[in-house]
Amino acid sequence: MACSIFACKSLRRGKYFVPLFLLLSVLAWLAALSGESVKTFQVHLGPTGKSLRVELDSQLETSSQTTTTEDCPAQSPLLVGPLQLTFDSSLTQEDVEKENQVVVDGTYKPPDCTSRQNIAILIPHRNREKHLLFLLHYLHPFLQRQQLHYGIYVIHQAGDTKFNRAKLLNVGFLEAQKDYDWDCFFFHDVDLIPENDHNLYMCENNPKHLVVGRNVTGYKLRYKGYFGGVTAMNSRQFLQVNGFSNNYWGWGGEDDDLRIRTEIHNMTIVRPPADVARYTMVFHSRDSGNEVNKQRLVLVRSTKRLWKKDGLSSCKYQVLSLDRLPLYVNITVDIGKPFN
Ligand code: BGC
Repeated sequence: MACSIFACKSLRRGKYFVPLFLLLSVLAWLAALSGESVKTFQVHLGPTGKSLRVELDSQLETSSQTTTTEDCPAQSPLLVGPLQLTFDSSLTQEDVEKENQVVVDGTYKPPDCTSRQNIAILIPHRNREKHLLFLLHYLHPFLQRQQLHYGIYVIHQAGDTKFNRAKLLNVGFLEAQKDYDWDCFFFHDVDLIPENDHNLYMCENNPKHLVVGRNVTGYKLRYKGYFGGVTAMNSRQFLQVNGFSNNYWGWGGEDDDLRIRTEIHNMTIVRPPADVARYTMVFHSRDSGNEVNKQRLVLVRSTKRLWKKDGLSSCKYQVLSLDRLPLYVNITVDIGKPFN
């Protein structure tokens, strides 16, 4: 086609406009897409519906301020040491909710630094409402002073068959993992209140046992291999031992079984110093449905043989309801019943 010199030059330049325009559009589209995927990523990370919004909003807010929070200090400046515990029978759920308005759906994140670990606290439960209230009353501020990102899960055994603490904890582990990629899991009795916030609720390179002393036993370790009450393992350690056995119905033995599992894997149990690893046990008589398990001594003799088949890998249950309450996630679960 004929053209003037000027028109031909413009046409030749125009030849580069189209690919340049396309290239710029693709780059703009990619930039928009990557911004979007960051948001979506945050959404998937969030442990709960409400906190999703909090995360997203705070992300938008902080991105406009262009700040990323730094890791929380190795030792929180908020720790106060030994605590004066009192158990006022008039304490109500509303009181504890009011004290903890920073907790959303049972989860909390420190506002001005990034927690060094993300902690799921699993509490097996049935008919111990008052104990649970006292524990929440002390545990929430305790964990907040430790500057932890945490979530509290109460795993409530439905029905009235014998209580099975260990299986409830397996359920808690499996369900909490669906919420968030927690680094560290605490297996926590409902009736044990930590007395000193230097007793850090964080995982170590080895499984950790925190109840070195309790008021009811003169603050002495029950026995060398005692691994009950409050223990912590990271998800790798807990998966490696196949979690707890599902076969301990009634009181006792399941914690010894877990210790044997850790020994099989050459893990060494660590404990915090005795002057901080102190607990108050809220008094109670043995619950009906949690009678001493007379089979426990027989069962612990078969741990070495059975651990691979019996544990997280074989944990069958049905979640009846999952409620995100202000102070904790409540999971009500049917865990079946003993075979005999
Ligand atoms: C039981 C454990 C229990 C411990 C301390 C042992 O005999 O087997 O399950 O934690 O006593 O009370």
